[in-house]
Amino acid sequence: MHTVTTVAALREQVAVWREAGERIAFVPTMGNLHAGHLKLVARAHALADRVVASIFVNPLQFGPGEDYESYPRTLAEDEKKLARLRVDLVFAPPVEEMYPNGAGETTTIRVPRELTDQLCGASRPGHFEGMSSVVARLFNMVQPDVAVFGEKDYQQLTVIRRMVRDLAMPVEIEGVPTEREPDGLAMSSRNQYLGAAEREKAPALYAALSRAAARLAAGETDFARLARDGFADLEAAGFQPEYFEIREAETLHPPRTDSPAWAVLAAARLGRARLIDNVEVSSPA
Ligand code: AMP
Repeated sequence: MHTVTTVAALREQVAVWREAGERIAFVPTMGNLHAGHLKLVARAHALADRVVASIFVNPLQFGPGEDYESYPRTLAEDEKKLARLRVDLVFAPPVEEMYPNGAGETTTIRVPRELTDQLCGASRPGHFEGMSSVVARLFNMVQPDVAVFGEKDYQQLTVIRRMVRDLAMPVEIEGVPTEREPDGLAMSSRNQYLGAAEREKAPALYAALSRAAARLAAGETDFARLARDGFADLEAAGFQPEYFEIREAETLHPPRTDSPAWAVLAAARLGRARLIDNVEVSSPA
């Protein structure tokens, strides 16, 4: 495995594999890798001959006052983990390589607002525009056959699928179930912002989502009430909830009683950390 930092070096390597007729899978990350990221790599291996991972903390998807500066950057350790998993190539570009005209001056992609302005987009204006723009740019650089994303970032995955469909991008999108700590907390680079007492409380997020999912699975369809109860559960557990919502699975449209499946999604602050998580549930009907 080796690491490249320029688009030219990336393309040179990828061209060799393409010439040999090999299939390429791509795993985009912001680094500070944990077992969730590593699961994406394992899936990527199962889907292709070669695996490219990127490590790039994308300034375009962070809002003012968010954690862009303090986001944990651990390239050397990440490289060791990826080498152990036999990743073929790591692409770790500096910001200037990704945005030669400056991050603020780059061309961006805006997926329709009905999808990107709700849920996390409501409190993070510009986040999904920044995220879809960097993913599109990375896709053009790597030109993978398949790209692997975590279901942990459910809205992100939905936005990417929509972008790929709307722009006819020649890449398959693969979703991987969320990797969790033994107590249910979804793994995240941002969990390290939690103090010891907060870490004890943190599994209550997944517990609240799971309770709502169990009620849906048992036939309850008063979505507004389920959302209110979930929000209250989070407050009672010591979180400052941002949202607790039920949506139709996959589309993130408002839930209908005859939807085949739903997603229960929440974002909540706990101390310095902003945690997100979700649970999908099939309709019992
Ligand atoms: P990030 O480095 O946080 O931007 O995440 C990179 C990729 O890893 C995204 O596709 C995430 O959805 C995915 N990911 C993050 N946490 C998890 C997790 N706990 N389980 C599975 N995938 C995850």
